[in-house]
Amino acid sequence: METYRKYSDYLIKRFGEKVYKLPVKLPITCPNRSGVIGNGGCTFCGDEGGSFENLEPSKSIQEQIIENKNYISPRYGVNKFIVYYQNFTNTFVPFEFFKNMLKETLKEDIVGVNISTRPDCVTDEQLDYLLWFQQETGLEITLELGLQTVNPQSLKKICRGHGVAEYVDCVLRARRRNLRVSTHLILNLPWDTDEDAVEAAKLISSLKTQEVKIHSLYVLKNTVLGEQFQRGEFEMISEDEFEERVILFLQYLDPKIVIGRLLGRAPKENTIFCNWGRSWWSIRDSIEEKMKDRNIQQGDFSFLRKPIVFLDKVK
Ligand code: SF4
Repeated sequence: METYRKYSDYLIKRFGEKVYKLPVKLPITCPNRSGVIGNGGCTFCGDEGGSFENLEPSKSIQEQIIENKNYISPRYGVNKFIVYYQNFTNTFVPFEFFKNMLKETLKEDIVGVNISTRPDCVTDEQLDYLLWFQQETGLEITLELGLQTVNPQSLKKICRGHGVAEYVDCVLRARRRNLRVSTHLILNLPWDTDEDAVEAAKLISSLKTQEVKIHSLYVLKNTVLGEQFQRGEFEMISEDEFEERVILFLQYLDPKIVIGRLLGRAPKENTIFCNWGRSWWSIRDSIEEKMKDRNIQQGDFSFLRKPIVFLDKVK
């Protein structure tokens, strides 16, 4: 039996075969950089506004889809794909542009669209359109919401520009329309504790989001976080503590929630700290081995599993 619910298994079950994501980078920005919410962005965020593994945004959506597909398909033997709008805030765009982003994905071998964004930057108009688009085309739409932490003090320290309530509101509005939600969390923010990880697991479980992506914090040059790190203003927890925190988080998480990833990754250049100098997969393997050795499974401590015993005692 699997120790946690893997995204790759979910995709095979859902679509009948392996499915890979095709990242698409748009020439856009985010409200936390453009002055709408803030100017400096989140303290950890580099110039790329997220992933590094993308093509240039000067290429059209179609060019990026085709180029990525031509690279991935023969290499991994994959024939179905999800278009992944990954960098910056992909709902911080005019509505016509947003609709066009969706229409550009209408190709035979595309089975889904993932849209990465902030929870305070998704309108009802966009959600209604996504619901309509999903129903019309049969493509599976997933909103990838950056929450990062449930600790309001930490959200303030990383200059996130939103709180936990905005996340709750966005998830509820998306779920009302039956749209899939993936939540991004950084489990080793320097000011967070194990209690924050447990609370995050409980909150995400109670809101019934379908997927979680766990990230390990990496520190980039030319960021506020990078300067704080070099001045010694905070310390990272150890790799062992991180692994234990991930395991604890998974134990408190609803066993039905799919795990998109267990930790983040960053390229060597421009990175001051990432995954304690280890490869991401060696940390993943270590977490999985520890869970197997100790007979631990996702959801062991999920409050959703526990009977509400006190109700029996009410006369
Ligand atoms: S992490 Fe996202 S929300 Fe924060 S500054 Fe970067 S692009 Fe904007």
